[in-house]
Amino acid sequence: MARRKQIREGKAKVLFQGPEPGTIVQYFKDDATAFNNKKKGTITGKGVLNNRISEYLMQRLEEIGIPTHLIRRLNMREQLVKEVEIIPVEVVVRNIAAGSICKKFEIVEGTRLPRSIVEYYYKSDELDDPPISEEHITGFGWATIQELDEILNMSLRVNDFLMGLFLGIGIRLVDYKLEYGRIYHDTGEVQIVLADELSPDNCRLWDEQTNEKLDKDRFRANLGKVEEAYQEVARRLGILPESGPSDLKGPVTVQ
Ligand code: C5P
Repeated sequence: MARRKQIREGKAKVLFQGPEPGTIVQYFKDDATAFNNKKKGTITGKGVLNNRISEYLMQRLEEIGIPTHLIRRLNMREQLVKEVEIIPVEVVVRNIAAGSICKKFEIVEGTRLPRSIVEYYYKSDELDDPPISEEHITGFGWATIQELDEILNMSLRVNDFLMGLFLGIGIRLVDYKLEYGRIYHDTGEVQIVLADELSPDNCRLWDEQTNEKLDKDRFRANLGKVEEAYQEVARRLGILPESGPSDLKGPVTVQ
């Protein structure tokens, strides 16, 4: 069997050339990093869980008309995605204060934000993902004004939808990071789609009753039971791998 060509290895995923032009195979690793690679480790089974969770969330978003790069999940650790030109902007949406915003503005973790806050960061490991404004994005040509409008609108729709979806399974969507990419269609149309992944690696998810953290903060702060937390998210979404691919249940609704 011909070996697949590796395109790029990132911190949590490896990208391979896909079977058809314009496709990529995204492989989810168990490797975990935090603080821009300063802390490294492995979370056993994380890749399998994130593959499932990201597939599930992107499918639900597609259903409400948010275009994503996902084509389909291939196996336990891989999904087939559309090849996109990544826009080098990380979009962070916050509903509850946690992480860097608490440090920056001396806000108590857990403070509910009166309005959701959208922040932009320049995607650059070398520069430590510096915070940027809309003017940086359009001024440096990372996205046009129209593209940025579309990205902001999509991010707010994603927020409304995902907050509701998670609340339905007893989880508070505290904050998360989104990435977008461009697809150049033969018709000349340039389409913006949601790319990368949506998982407890790039979302903060707290149990609604206990505020227990069910995300990568467990790894960042050495809280232990990291894999169990990711499993709990998958279990509540009704997609724990043990249930098997032909047995994908809907979310377990909490009263
Ligand atoms: O660190 P900070 O509080 O700014 O992170 C906000 C949200 O964005 C968190 O959910 C975090 O997991 C996510 N994030 C990410 N990748 C980054 C920076 C932040 O997934 N490079």
